[in-house]
Amino acid sequence: MDSPATAETVPSSTLRDRSEIPARFKWNLKHIFDDWRAWQDAYDTLDRKISDYAALQGTLARGAGELLQAMRLSDEIGQLTYKVWYYASLMHDEDQRDNAINAKRQQVQILFAKAGQASAWFNPELLNIPLATLQTWMAANADLAVYRFALEDLYRQQEHVLDDKGEHLLSLSSRFASAPHDAYAALSTADVRHPTIALSTGATATLTYGQYRAILSTERNQRDRALAFHEYHKLYQANVNTYAALYNGVLQRDWFLAQSRGYASALEAALHGNNIPVAVVENLIASTKAGVEPLRRYHRLRRRVLGLDSYYTYDSTIPLVDFDRRYPYDDVLEWLPASVMPLGKPYQQQLRDVLSGDWIDVYENPGKRSGAYSAPVYGVHPYMLLNYNDTLDAVFTLAHEMGHSMHTLLSNAHQPFVYSAYTIFVAEVPSTLSEALFLEYMLARATDDRERIVLLQHAIDGIVSTFYTQVMFADFELQAHRLVEQGRPVTADALGDMYFGLLQTYHGDAVTLDDASRVTWARIPHFFSTPYYVYQYATCFASSAQLMQQLTTGPESGRAAAIERYLTLLSAGGSDHPMTLLQGAGVDLSRPATVRAVVDQLDGLVTKLEEAIAAIG
Ligand SMILES: [Zn+2]
Repeated sequence: MDSPATAETVPSSTLRDRSEIPARFKWNLKHIFDDWRAWQDAYDTLDRKISDYAALQGTLARGAGELLQAMRLSDEIGQLTYKVWYYASLMHDEDQRDNAINAKRQQVQILFAKAGQASAWFNPELLNIPLATLQTWMAANADLAVYRFALEDLYRQQEHVLDDKGEHLLSLSSRFASAPHDAYAALSTADVRHPTIALSTGATATLTYGQYRAILSTERNQRDRALAFHEYHKLYQANVNTYAALYNGVLQRDWFLAQSRGYASALEAALHGNNIPVAVVENLIASTKAGVEPLRRYHRLRRRVLGLDSYYTYDSTIPLVDFDRRYPYDDVLEWLPASVMPLGKPYQQQLRDVLSGDWIDVYENPGKRSGAYSAPVYGVHPYMLLNYNDTLDAVFTLAHEMGHSMHTLLSNAHQPFVYSAYTIFVAEVPSTLSEALFLEYMLARATDDRERIVLLQHAIDGIVSTFYTQVMFADFELQAHRLVEQGRPVTADALGDMYFGLLQTYHGDAVTLDDASRVTWARIPHFFSTPYYVYQYATCFASSAQLMQQLTTGPESGRAAAIERYLTLLSAGGSDHPMTLLQGAGVDLSRPATVRAVVDQLDGLVTKLEEAIAAIG
């Protein structure tokens, strides 16, 4: 999961060929396999093991030994899958134009489908064994007991599994459950005709979403931003009743599935997989609403600095000052380890190892995948793909992905394979914390007021887009789902009023609201593709803000204990439910104080920004 605020890297016209880039800036995939022949051998082994697994069907009830055999074979398949998949996938991302490599990558995807079919028997067969029997087996067999959490969690989830007839019926419904989103994607992407606008500079721009975002964050003339905003939103206004009907389809589907499985609400159904209480989302929304003042203060400050008579939503991403400092990669290699000093020397040393190990693919080259990611190649080490271009955004992207890589490294080192992967609910905590530590470091060493302003705006914009906006989205999803749960009509007017009301609640009089904002909800793809997903950006952000407080403030002994708890969290992988793991690290998301940590963080940053702006006069 990547930050929703991450911008695409702009392709440069003077790209070096991959072969011209020195080896120390490229990842070395020989750490996974020596060559394609070794990969093919592993692929064939994997294929064979998948067939072996299918042959175990019907054996589980015989006893602990048979169950253990299935669990271990499943682990072997999983471990091999990481290597076979990532070798082809990372190789593909080096140059996506290579069809032969793409074919190998697709070959693995076909094997994935086979693996899915070959293991479909496992859950129903296991759940036919009474939990008490399983627990007796685990008490007597330490090797099997390793799998306790994973196995018992399947029984917990069984509570909402229907009988064979019911499950069959639901599986038939899955074929049309994706129709509202498919239609949304067609209407908003495939069938859309992007308008072209003329800017005040005389240039013209075709308003794809990327261009639209770029205009809002680069065009200094407010009229250009207003024009882009209005023209872009007309795309949604023109079909607003269709969008509302499609969203109603999403809401009705979610409520149908929730009721079928005996959940009290669609939210409860969405949270059950990770065992998250509904109160977490409710608390997140209520506590954020109570903490909107620093957000409003930031908008008022922006309005003053930008010299605008009226300040609109489309004025919220333009930089406060012009700044074009470059950050060479070699400088960052020194700064990044220095920034994690608050996490202790061993962590710092491990981070240096990540930076120097040929694990990172740094620069862009023709055909390379855009963006950035950390790939958790189990049994090898994490790899990182960057498109580093010396900008401040690129520096923070590296800090972000480094958080993911360190999480992978610690979790793989301390957990058995079955718990090595962490959930999305925890994943963005270390990446966000890594960015926060890096910001502190950069602020402390910045001597130039303009650089301070840019750093502070970067941090604040991150909080606005990753926290406040995502909570507002979660709020919208909750209200919309409640409409259908209470049997009330879902119309374009109802959804527009709801969205406009939320903008007012969060921004108050700090932002002048344009009527066109009523339709903005139709522009948010997450509402249609993955309902009740975005709140996790916000809970991760809140968790990281609270951890940051514990790690960097207060007495020495308290901080040492906080480091210990934090490293335990990273080392815990997916060995327990995410709320339990976070509680162990000192973060309780059901308490308002956790959310207030973000509000306090923003408040402090806005104050620092005011000071930095006063300093340049
Ligand atoms: Zn991320």
